[in-house]
Amino acid sequence: MVNRMDKYDEMHKDLLKLKEQMNPKRESFRLILLYLLIGVIWILMSDLILSVLFDDVGILTKIQTIKGWIYIGATSMFFYFIILKRLNLFTIATNEIFNNYEELSAANEELLALEEELSQKYDELERNHKALALSEQRYELVIEGSNDGIWDWDVVNKNFFYSLKLKEFYGYNSVNFDNSYDGWVNILHPDDREKVLKKHEEFFNTDLTIYENKYRIVTKTGIVRWIHSRGKAIRDKNGHVLRMAGSHTDITDQVELEENLFFLAYNDRLTSLPNWKKFENELKKSINNSLLNSNKLSILYLDISNFRTINDTLGHKTGNLFLQSTASILREFSSEDIFCARLSGGTFALILTNVEKESEMEEITNRIINRLHEPWVFEGHNFYRTVNVGIAIYPDHALDTATLQRNADTVLNYLKSNNKQGIMFYNKEMSEITISHMNMLNDLHEALLNEDFQLYYQPQICLKSNSIVGVEALIRWFNTKTGFVSPAEFIPVAEKMGYIKQIDKWVINTAFRDKATWNKIGFSDLKMSINISSGTLVDPDFPELIRASILKYRLDPSEIEIEITETAIISDMEAALRSINFLRDLGVSIALDDFGTGFSSLTHLKELPITVLKIDKQFLDKIGKEDESDLIVTSVITLSHNLNIKVVAEGVETEQQLNFLALNNCDVGQGYYFSKPINTDQLNSTFLVKEA
Ligand code: C2E
Ligand code: MG
Ligand code: MG
Repeated sequence: MVNRMDKYDEMHKDLLKLKEQMNPKRESFRLILLYLLIGVIWILMSDLILSVLFDDVGILTKIQTIKGWIYIGATSMFFYFIILKRLNLFTIATNEIFNNYEELSAANEELLALEEELSQKYDELERNHKALALSEQRYELVIEGSNDGIWDWDVVNKNFFYSLKLKEFYGYNSVNFDNSYDGWVNILHPDDREKVLKKHEEFFNTDLTIYENKYRIVTKTGIVRWIHSRGKAIRDKNGHVLRMAGSHTDITDQVELEENLFFLAYNDRLTSLPNWKKFENELKKSINNSLLNSNKLSILYLDISNFRTINDTLGHKTGNLFLQSTASILREFSSEDIFCARLSGGTFALILTNVEKESEMEEITNRIINRLHEPWVFEGHNFYRTVNVGIAIYPDHALDTATLQRNADTVLNYLKSNNKQGIMFYNKEMSEITISHMNMLNDLHEALLNEDFQLYYQPQICLKSNSIVGVEALIRWFNTKTGFVSPAEFIPVAEKMGYIKQIDKWVINTAFRDKATWNKIGFSDLKMSINISSGTLVDPDFPELIRASILKYRLDPSEIEIEITETAIISDMEAALRSINFLRDLGVSIALDDFGTGFSSLTHLKELPITVLKIDKQFLDKIGKEDESDLIVTSVITLSHNLNIKVVAEGVETEQQLNFLALNNCDVGQGYYFSKPINTDQLNSTFLVKEA
């Protein structure tokens, strides 16, 4: 560009010079003056010379003519050169102008191109400017509009930038927030401060660029918030952090949600006590500790056995309150050494650590039970908890969590099965009993499918007419593996394990079917007596089952007798009476079995809608041996008759017993004296024979 400018200067100078040289007025004047001068000189000089040389006018005239021609030739030559020189100058000037024009034109084009380029550059600059402004606006919008706070830390110059949002997180504004590293350190939760600073230090000593951390801060108003801090670092070639920038997200809601979910996963919703899952985790931890320290621990399975009754009678809402009050009592005992949880329903579980002696375990358990035995007051009424506790000790009773838990549960089952209450430590026999019960239950299930059961019938003899008036159906099980199993053995197991309803159903169907057969052969007045367990008696479907079965086999309800026990009635008086009344209304007889065992309450005789009383064999065995027993038997017979209740004596084995009973107006006798329980064929051939 500089060269070009020099050239233009030179061109300008040349043109000026040419302009100087080519002054037309002056040139023209100069030429005319010169011409005039030469002409005058020529004329004067030549005429003078010729006048000297020649006198002849004729010659002079001729020479004058030649002289004129010479003058013309000379001036022509003169003008030729003058004009040539001037035109040469003109040519140079026009060439110079042309060249300059070319040069200028090229320069002009170049300038135009340059202008175009400049214009493009300007447009680009304008665009960049706009983009920058947009980007800045976007950045501002993002910072202010997002839920995250932005921070920027110039580590070298120790400068901090916190976005307004971030300050708002902290409960501050632009004015009152200490815009420094220390300002941020100050609002860190005291419990997290050390951890956070340590993490910073660790990060600075790595070559990582991405930084992430979660911690708590305390706002100006003292509220604790959870922050998720994310950032990126710029490091120099030696790995030193020069600058870091990132965001802070308030994750308090998320953390609280996570904590809630965690709580729900490991705690019981109703009582807020730890649930079975947490209990198992805690038990695993405690066993590991005990293993390391070689000490004992015990688990207590604590069952509120009347919870179901409270729940059923007072409703679920009240049942829930009852459980909550139980949980709050247990919580009173929670400590470093006592962990309490709710497993399910009315069953709670405790882990006792650092207690080595059984006596101490028992003492703590007793303290808890005593507290639980205090009345629970609901709507002005006192309710009492019945509590069973099964204790299993690590390592004495089991080495792993599952077995330890199973053993504590076995104790509870044992207490329940044996109608016991209180505290019991696990022992091996309990498991054996449970296992044998489980095996028996499996066998019972198969027996029902394979029809390994049979119904035997024991005749009931009218003591006046000495003739058969009824039979008692008694189940017999010929187990293919173990042989004959007494109902006294398997019926209680079936009752405990919830299997009795299926058995009773089979008995009802089989007995009614046999009864229908006997009706057909002319023994319709033979009463069919069947034993019904407590579980079946209180089952709401039971009365309808009897009614439907009577209809199915076209029987007369008065030919049917249901034997129930006092304990069956007491277990759930309301439901039992509902069934009994239904059957009574139908016309079915109700016999109270085993009178003389259990409560044998004479008041029950008056209150219960029974038609028959069966005096138990225990009483009969004492006849003739204890005066008192004789008196009780005669009194029971008299009282029953007064209440219009028929009396059946069970277990008549001797003639002496028979005579005593007959003498005291006992209605019916049943026992080995007449016959053992027998199958249908035997009954048909011995008792159900029509006299010719
Ligand atoms: P239970 O209802 O009191 O039946 C009378 C029991 O006394 C029967 O025992 C019978 O064989 C026995 N027995 C009758 N007379 C004499 C006698 O003179 N001497 C002796 N030593 N025993 C006599 P079993 O058949 O072993 O039944 C025992 C119990 O099992 C029954 O007592 C009853 O509670 C229950 N049971 C029997 N069969 C059934 C049934 O089909 N269903 C239900 N739910 N329980 C049944
Ligand atoms: Mg009976
Ligand atoms: Mg009996």
